[in-house]
Amino acid sequence: MLLPLRGALAALVASEKRDDLLSPQSRCAALQTTLKLANTQILNVTYIPGPTTVSTPGSCVSSAAVNNAPLCRVQFVTNTTSTSALHGEAWLPDVWYGRFLGLGNAQVGGCVDYTNLDYATSLHFAVISTDNGHDGLTGLPFLNHPEVINDFGFRSVHTEAILGKQIVQKYYSRAPAKSYYMGCSTGGRQGIQEALKYPNDFDGIVAGSPATDWNNLLGWAGMVSKAVGAPAGAASPSFLTTADWALVTAEALKQCDGLDGLVDGIINEPNDCKFDPTPLLCAGDKTATCLTAAQVTAVKNVFSPLRDSNGALMYPQYDIGAQADGLYSLILGGNFFSFTADWTRYAVKNVTSFDFTNYSLADIKQSIQINPGSTATWNGDLSAFRRRGGKLLTFHGRRDPLIPSSNSKRMYDMIAKTLKTPSLDDFYRLFLIPGMGHCTRGIDGGPTAFGQGQFPGTNRVNDTQHNILLALVDWVEKGKAPNTITGTSLTDLTMQKVHCRYPIEKSVWDGSQWVCKKCA
Ligand code: CA
Repeated sequence: MLLPLRGALAALVASEKRDDLLSPQSRCAALQTTLKLANTQILNVTYIPGPTTVSTPGSCVSSAAVNNAPLCRVQFVTNTTSTSALHGEAWLPDVWYGRFLGLGNAQVGGCVDYTNLDYATSLHFAVISTDNGHDGLTGLPFLNHPEVINDFGFRSVHTEAILGKQIVQKYYSRAPAKSYYMGCSTGGRQGIQEALKYPNDFDGIVAGSPATDWNNLLGWAGMVSKAVGAPAGAASPSFLTTADWALVTAEALKQCDGLDGLVDGIINEPNDCKFDPTPLLCAGDKTATCLTAAQVTAVKNVFSPLRDSNGALMYPQYDIGAQADGLYSLILGGNFFSFTADWTRYAVKNVTSFDFTNYSLADIKQSIQINPGSTATWNGDLSAFRRRGGKLLTFHGRRDPLIPSSNSKRMYDMIAKTLKTPSLDDFYRLFLIPGMGHCTRGIDGGPTAFGQGQFPGTNRVNDTQHNILLALVDWVEKGKAPNTITGTSLTDLTMQKVHCRYPIEKSVWDGSQWVCKKCA
């Protein structure tokens, strides 16, 4: 028996060697006919030899840059049910370090994340991204399509995890050694949803600025946009112009900028700021330097949590300072927040139009009760993910104009309470990023780039202290957990700042530099 077995092994090794000897171009071309995946059609398999721009299907972008790595591009469509499907792509770099990465999505949309396909392959991940079950940036495809909502709520990333691992196995003739996920905003929510529902899919997850407690988040945003004039817009007495908001920002900085030890235009810890807009109240008629009573009330509403009729917290308040971010107008610009409008009409009420004039707590409650696609993603029981050795890194900008950063603290506290442990340090770490907007950027030139993707160039320094994806890899593969993450300016490599993890430390100026100081 021994000799035939040895012969078979030798033949197997020889066959594998022959596969290995094939050029990436040949191995890639072969996938077009040899890759067979359940319920899936392989649309195109293309070898991309070097820096170039490729055309893209779908309505989100018209082309994508392949800046970094020669790779095999696999485009597919997979049916998740008889009435829903994901379009997606796997990018398989020639130089592969044995790691697989799944990517998330954004807003209420369905767009393949080409920026991060390129970014991930530059770090030698095999990577996959899908359109989240529908094409484009609106929620209209949810209408009358509950399975499309299920893809959005919980199924698209799970499906890409299964498919991606199979594609990797077929192309490289071995399974990925470790599997990772990275996403922000809706993508952050998808990462948390994975850890909750499918804890075995990924060994490590980066879930940035997560849109968790989704129904309450959108309900809160709808109520806030209503508080500042929506849907009447500028005709409403509670509407604030950009110039009015600039008054609010100046007054907030006057009251709170120095609380962190340095007057620098950034309120490191907005929750320490007991901001009172009353000094802005006009003594007489409205002028360019004061606000009317209706406007002052609107500002107080924006910076107060949303509570139900019994006074219980439904969602935290807007980040003080975020009103100065360029994206502020999506919620505070006088229009009813479009994500809430789409979700309410097409996912919750299943109607083509709805008058938001009297949008109220009852509408939010309906959304919470139906919870379309189990999208809420609000459950502290991460025990299964923790038990299997999963590691999760999350972050949130303290000047986020779309998702208040307090919600990430609230989520941390909920998980700690559910798991009955004061610290989640062994598997879950939250970094708060002063001055950062939604997922990235923020105060111009600030040190808010730490490898979180989102747009090209956030990986200014590729080591485990400065790049959160590499920090996650270090944690999963070497057991070295990051205590801090250092951000770098997009415009100045020497401008860096250490970012601290909640609830253990907070960012303070010690007289000569930023440090993470133990919380009292
Ligand atoms: Ca400051």
